[in-house]
Amino acid sequence: MMLLPDFRVRQRDYLLEISRAITEQLDLDEVLRRILRAAVSMLAGQVGLIALRDAGAMRAWASYGVNPALLTHFEPLLTDMSIDDDGSLLIPGLEQKLERIASEVDLRLRQVVALPMSVGDAFVGVIYIFRAYGGSFSLNDRRVLESFADQAAIAVHNARLYQTAERERTRLEAILESSADGVMILSPGLKIESFNRALSRITGWRADQAIGQPHDAVIVWQRREPGADLEEAVAGGWPTLPSDNRPASTLYVEGDLRRPDGTTISVAITYAPLIHQSRLVNIIANVRDITHFREAQEAKSTFISVISHELKTPVSLIKGYASTLRREDAAWDPATIQASLQVIEDEADRLTELIENLLEASRLQSGSFKLERCDVRLDQLAERVAVDFRTQTAQHTLTVDFPPDFPVVQGDERRLRNVLDNLVSNAIKYSPGGGAVRIWGQARLDEVLVGVSDHGVGLPPDELDRVFERFYRVNHDIARKTKGTGLGLYLAQAIVEAHGGRIWVESTPGHGATFTLALPRVSRRTPAPP
Ligand code: ADP
Repeated sequence: MMLLPDFRVRQRDYLLEISRAITEQLDLDEVLRRILRAAVSMLAGQVGLIALRDAGAMRAWASYGVNPALLTHFEPLLTDMSIDDDGSLLIPGLEQKLERIASEVDLRLRQVVALPMSVGDAFVGVIYIFRAYGGSFSLNDRRVLESFADQAAIAVHNARLYQTAERERTRLEAILESSADGVMILSPGLKIESFNRALSRITGWRADQAIGQPHDAVIVWQRREPGADLEEAVAGGWPTLPSDNRPASTLYVEGDLRRPDGTTISVAITYAPLIHQSRLVNIIANVRDITHFREAQEAKSTFISVISHELKTPVSLIKGYASTLRREDAAWDPATIQASLQVIEDEADRLTELIENLLEASRLQSGSFKLERCDVRLDQLAERVAVDFRTQTAQHTLTVDFPPDFPVVQGDERRLRNVLDNLVSNAIKYSPGGGAVRIWGQARLDEVLVGVSDHGVGLPPDELDRVFERFYRVNHDIARKTKGTGLGLYLAQAIVEAHGGRIWVESTPGHGATFTLALPRVSRRTPAPP
């Protein structure tokens, strides 16, 4: 009888300890440590080893009484073994293997007891206990050991399941946290259970404030597209359980949310029910910030109405003058004919310019926008622009102010002229009271600055960047009254940036604005030869 003399008394304690390990300890390493400790002391062993099956192969996972660095010597016991029909372990050449291992690790190991661990049909691993003395076991001892191994197997199995579930959970949490979309998980009673970082950014609610709150305390609609919100949908019986050929339907709600600081944000929320065994377990809400989408939609529809208006005005003028001139019952004097033809020509020019701008914007978008570079004398260009615009306004005084020997830059002269035309035309348009408009230049070490300053309505600080956006027009009276498409500055910026330069605006609202562009003195794209 090789079990400890008092083993029978203690066997229940050991089994109890393993049962506890199953119920209270889900950390795999700790479970294995406890099993080994119990098994080694139960069998008066020297060394203990647990090998677990991992992806089809056996791997030493925990040890007792041996330096872990020496574990590789035990491998012959792990790699070349099988289990026979009655569940006992078969290790060919066990005696010799044991002898060799004992000499390699320099320990007295005379006998090895191997206890296979299985849960149902699934083989989990093996507990090996090495003893300094050989001996045999009674039938009763064997039963106790088997029962011990069964309990240990369940403990290991549970711990590994828990480990996998934990890994999945942390992975899922990391995915949710790093998702660019807002995500929240609701209980069937519509309480918030989880709330990710993106959603905090969108809604202005901190996760710890939102979790535990009812859904409608956090998702407060200021304005909503027609259709039911979550609470109304649930009251109306949503979600219905999925049927054979139909999955459970999702719910889509779009509108403006009110945030705790009083601001609003445009969002689209998709609610998806999570149904398990015909029961609603959770509702997953995916929240997307659609502010930019909304703005783009608005800009597009404003653009269409602006463009239609812009196209219609010259066309109706041209048509009006042309049909008047054609009237057969009237004899027009040459001066009237001249003036009418002048209007027709000007309006046709305006149309051409508008169409050219639209084409240029579409070229920019499609990427087929190429500069035609040559030497450009910006001071002379500014002079020509001023001469042209002086004929168009009597209210404004245009001055050109460049230092002598202003550097020549490499650039696309036609397009740079468009930029200047646009800035000067804006300066005139947005200073309806008239006043001075100054086109000026300044040479710096590695770049030149060209600016257009006016004394007009100016721009509020929060509009300073936005005016360069496509189709963007400031929402003030004067912009509403003046013609424009919101394309001019967008194109100007694209042209300047294609030259490797920058454009920006400074303004004191009510007192005018200065648009400045900076161009590199030596083109960054085609460096000057050394
Ligand atoms: P458009 O003049 O056709 O509307 P732009 O792209 O040239 O389009 O200008 C965009 C907006 O920037 C204008 O609608 C106007 O509100 C504002 N803006 C441009 N230039 C000036 C300026 N010199 N002073 C004040 N506001 C300006």
